[in-house]
Amino acid sequence: MKGQLFVISAPSGTGKSTVLGEVRARLTGLGYSVSHTTRRPRPGEQEGRDYFFVDKETFKRMAEEGSFVEWARVYGDYYGTSFFSLEGQLDSGVDVLLDLDVQGARSIKEHFKESVLIFLVPPSLEVLEDRLRNRGTDGQEVIETRLKKARKEIAEFNRYHYVIINDELEQAVEEVQAIILSERSRTGRRAPIVKELFGL
Ligand code: ADP
Ligand code: 5GP
Repeated sequence: MKGQLFVISAPSGTGKSTVLGEVRARLTGLGYSVSHTTRRPRPGEQEGRDYFFVDKETFKRMAEEGSFVEWARVYGDYYGTSFFSLEGQLDSGVDVLLDLDVQGARSIKEHFKESVLIFLVPPSLEVLEDRLRNRGTDGQEVIETRLKKARKEIAEFNRYHYVIINDELEQAVEEVQAIILSERSRTGRRAPIVKELFGL
């Protein structure tokens, strides 16, 4: 049986990387789709673990060659999910987590109807602003742009199957884990093993 796709989106600065880091450390059998991006690495980010960092020419060539399941322009840079990063894992039955913006989530839902979409939101726009500032990776102008975009993105919450409010980190991590574990127990996904176990 193929793996399940989990897409997680959040306005920038909500804490998605932090939450996902924890979820990935705690759950087994959960792969991660490493995207390609033209943006520069942030301190601590690693090539091939967080992203494949490529220049615009390489990205454009890959898009023309049809290497991406979906790609989008986000804050002036390009981000894309390659077939390569996704299909090998899915085919071998591994569940895959994708960290995508709202455009990417929409495309994946069209391609993979069974995908599960999770939206992470901050407890308020004021808290989001504080988190963006505390992260210390963006200047004032970038923070303003991200806050404006956040309102528009949050307005799209209805496209997602689940919404998690990242107020207390531990609670948000547990809620994301709970969704993944519940989806793994769906009757359709459990059917092959139940049939095998009980000779049905
Ligand atoms: P994103 O990946 O969504 O852009 P990050 O994971 O980089 O966001 O988090 C943005 C900032 O908010 C970081 O400084 C992070 O430590 C902090 N943060 C994340 N989750 C929480 C939380 N639940 N409570 C307080 N601070 C948080
Ligand atoms: P960041 O630069 O903060 O890592 O990511 C910026 C935004 O791009 C986030 O909303 C993130 O989810 C999104 N993103 C990362 N990879 C991809 C991708 O492959 N496709 C799309 N559509 N969005 C992505």
